[in-house]
Amino acid sequence: LDASITGWLLRLLSPAGKRARAQIFSYHRVQDAENRFVSDDPTIDDFRMQMSCISEVCNVLPLSELVYRFGEGSLPANAAAITFDDGYINNLTHALPVLEEYQLPATIFVAVEPVKQGIMWNDLIIEALSRTQGKAHFQYKGLAFNFEANRSCIEDVLGKFKYLLHEERAEAAHQFYSFCTDVAPPRLMLTPEMIAECKSSLIEFGAHSISHPILANLDDERCRHEIYKSRQIISDWCGAEIQTFAYPNGRPGKDFGPREMNLVKEAGYIGAVSTLWGPLTRESDVFAIPRYTPWEHSPGGFKRRILLTNANL
Ligand SMILES: [Zn+2]
Repeated sequence: LDASITGWLLRLLSPAGKRARAQIFSYHRVQDAENRFVSDDPTIDDFRMQMSCISEVCNVLPLSELVYRFGEGSLPANAAAITFDDGYINNLTHALPVLEEYQLPATIFVAVEPVKQGIMWNDLIIEALSRTQGKAHFQYKGLAFNFEANRSCIEDVLGKFKYLLHEERAEAAHQFYSFCTDVAPPRLMLTPEMIAECKSSLIEFGAHSISHPILANLDDERCRHEIYKSRQIISDWCGAEIQTFAYPNGRPGKDFGPREMNLVKEAGYIGAVSTLWGPLTRESDVFAIPRYTPWEHSPGGFKRRILLTNANL
């Protein structure tokens, strides 16, 4: 699709002002090579292609400004925002240079504990598998399974750990890592210093909880703590007010619900993003904003996807 036709169709679907819609693009990591171990995050080249398409057909705003102007009814046509969950170093090393090339703002949602620890439990397992070969038998307390280290077993192995309790899962993942390799685990997450030193006017930070739990499973006090305290800590790190929140896992009705949405509102955030697929429309709640995760590898496919997502198809 021609960029001007796509832009014109998008303006019909997503006009400026009170009837505006918006599209929020959701990323985690941006990776540097095709032969990466995990396949669903874009490479720098995919990411550049997607940013080039977005800059041609969308009006990208920082998410906090987008939420504010959505409330005011003053969004531009074809409004969009770009978000990254979890707080990976590659958001600054790999994604930011591309964002600068196209002058596109983005929001990085930081989870506090992963930043302190350097790596998330699921990445620890992926890194462990990428550093080992062959069949093995792993045992940890009630957890025992055989696995063969290759790409196809990632989901299987992650699935085994997913059902452990939060505290136990971190410990089990560390055991699994040292079972697989002697090499020290790499730091994948930003440090508080990197967050403090990031002075790019294109980047704003949002909160993504303290320990990345399924909020709906927590008691009231712990849930409140995850939402309130993360806002304060990340604000201290980056030296700016935190306006937006991303629910861990993010499925409305499963991972969060009315209780979490109320707590987010009470804590002073102006909006929150989910992982529900779709555009932000007049029917949406700004405390459960739908998003879209791009996977297309061609500009035509990606522009078509932007149109279809905006049309909610
Ligand atoms: Zn996350």
